[in-house]
Formats: sequence, C-alpha cells, structure tokens
Amino acid sequence: MSTSVAARIDEVETFLVDVPTIRPHRLSMHTMNSQCLVLVMIRCSDGTIGLGEGTTIGGLSYGEESPEGIKLTIDTYIAPAIVGMDASRVAAVMASVQRRVKGNRFAKCAVETALLDALGKRLGQPVSELLGGRQHDTLPVAWTLASGDTARDIDEAEQMLAKRRHNIFKLKIGLRAWDADVAHVAAIKKALGDRASVRVDVNQAWTEPVARRGIAALEVAGVDLVEQPLPRDNRLAQARLAGRFTIAIMADEALHGLTDAFDIAANGTADVFALKIAQAGGLFDAAKIAAVAEAAGIGLYGGTMLEGGVGTAASAQLFSALPQLAWGTELFGPLLLTEEILATPLRYADFALQVPSTPGIGVELDMERVAFFSRDRRAARVHPVRTAVGA
Ligand SMILES: [Mg+2]
Repeated sequence: MSTSVAARIDEVETFLVDVPTIRPHRLSMHTMNSQCLVLVMIRCSDGTIGLGEGTTIGGLSYGEESPEGIKLTIDTYIAPAIVGMDASRVAAVMASVQRRVKGNRFAKCAVETALLDALGKRLGQPVSELLGGRQHDTLPVAWTLASGDTARDIDEAEQMLAKRRHNIFKLKIGLRAWDADVAHVAAIKKALGDRASVRVDVNQAWTEPVARRGIAALEVAGVDLVEQPLPRDNRLAQARLAGRFTIAIMADEALHGLTDAFDIAANGTADVFALKIAQAGGLFDAAKIAAVAEAAGIGLYGGTMLEGGVGTAASAQLFSALPQLAWGTELFGPLLLTEEILATPLRYADFALQVPSTPGIGVELDMERVAFFSRDRRAARVHPVRTAVGA
C-alpha cells in the first residue's frame, strides 16, 4: 500500500432536500409538484469537499430507487465501506463499492460524482478534463412542456423562444388516449413550425398496436423523435417500431447500464440513447455507454433525472467531453425548481447551458438554502421538542 496518500475519505454526508417546482410537471406515471434532491458531501483529509447528487423522479414511480432509499444505501452500506480509502483513486473506490453493493446505480453515481468533484478540486481541474478533456463549452438544452394544456404549452414555448433559452421541446405524453395526445402535439408543432424541434416522451405508456398508430400520426405532424414508447422489457416490439418508422426512436427507461446499451445496440431496439449519469451508475459507465453508441452508430442525447444544480453540472462535465451529442441535452433540471441552492447559478443563454469551468464539477452549494429546504431541518422546525428529545 502506498504511504504517500494525499487524501483519504474522512466522512460521507447525505441530505434530502425538497424544492418546489415552478409548475406541475405531468408525466405518464406521475405529476411532480416538487423535486426531492439527494445531495452527497464527501469530506477528505486534505480539506477538499466533493459534492454529488443522486436524484430520481416521483419517488418510486419512475425507477427502482427512491430518494429515501438512495440516502439509506449511501449512509448504511457505501459510506462505512469507503471511509479511510484513498480519495484520489476514484475508480478503485467505486470498484470496491461495486463488489459490496449490487444495483443501486443512482446511489453509486452520487458517490462517484462527489469523489470526482473532490479529485478535480484537488488537481485544480474541471471534471471534464479528468474524463478525457472538454470538447464543448456549451451544450444545447431542450425544455419539457408538461403542463398538459395545449394553449399553455404553446405560450410557454413561445416565451422560451423569445428569451432564446430553448428551441428544442419535449412533450410528455401517454397519460391520455393516444389520439388526444397526438392532437395536442400536432397543434404545438404547427404553432412552432420550423422554429423548434418537437419531440415526445411516452414514458413506456403505449402498447405496440397503439404505438404503431401513434407514431405514424406523429411522423405526419413533423415530430423529430419518440422517446421510450413501450415498456422497457418490450424490446423486440420496440425493435420492430425502430425498423418500421423513419422517425427516431430513443431508449430511456430501457437503458439502465452498459449491458442494456450493448443489448439495445445489438438488437436495433433504438436509434438514440438517452444518456443519464444516474441510470448508467456513474460518469465512468455513462462514458462507456457513449462508446457503445459510437461503435453502433447510435445517436446520443444528454438526459436528466431532473437533478438540481449538482447533478446537472456533473452531467454537463461528462457530456462536454463526448465527441458528439447529435440530439443535444435536457439539462434543464435547475430551471424547473423555484429555488436556487447553488452559490452561483448555472448559466443558460442562447439555447444552451454553459459548462462550468472551475475545478471539480464547477458548482458550490449555498448551504443556508440547502439547510432551509433539507427534510431534517424542516422536520425539526415542525416538531422542535420531539427532535430535541430525540437528539
Ligand atoms: Mg424519458
């Protein structure tokens, strides 16, 4: 063992932070009115502090890890295993976690992000430089129109175009009958015309026969891409759809990690990958999935789990180091929240996110804001006596 370890992992802290959203965000399986961010802070013996985030959507309605479960996994199983390890050997630490903890990709991503953030700060380099080097300083960012109301969605899109914040719009569909959804989407595409790319996300809500009719109509309407039309396990059927239509089919919920990426590439299940650091299990594995896509000629879209600023910055660090992101990104998570928890907000301008260039993932938390929205503190404010006795 090396005797010249520059930094050991001293402490791993986690916080659940509940932040309201600017409007209801309707998906086929859940309507969000707030987002629960799972933040991780890793303190190292050299004084560096790494930040990570392992956020999901809608409790357990989107994926198999809940915010509370992510926190428990890190606190109970990952933190005790990695305290004392060499903080700079991120891959070795994560390999050790991999041996002790099956699955739990979001929790692993949060921890890996915090270690990479600390390493970047230690070396004075942005995380993009640790991942091969930055190729893009800005990333195109889509906006999701998910109010469910056609006039309101068109108005929201027009505002975004006028502000030059977004010109790619994703519509969440699948909650209503397919023909009502298609009418909603077609009206929005007609209103926006060539000024915007319009795409849909069905979030697994359709069956193959419904998807055949729905996608045919979406092609006529001028939609550019259909995301996850079928349930994730219905792979053969989705391969048939990808072969049948010229419109691009994107895998999202079907893409949980490297093995899924290989399977989708080998079976022609999708034309595009929604690349998400949390779904991949971390930035390293997300980079490997991007390599599978490159080898298979599959397009990439930089996806989000609607993380706050920390997870968004971490995703941006990886995406900025990839050779191509033909379909842009959807790194708008912080813009969906009513409150800023970063000391300096991420910058969005000219339809793009500016990738932070300070060391690490490039963002710092406003700890007063984090404390204010933290679930523990809120419980303490509501039940001060009980908490004091409990403590
Ligand atoms: Mg999706």
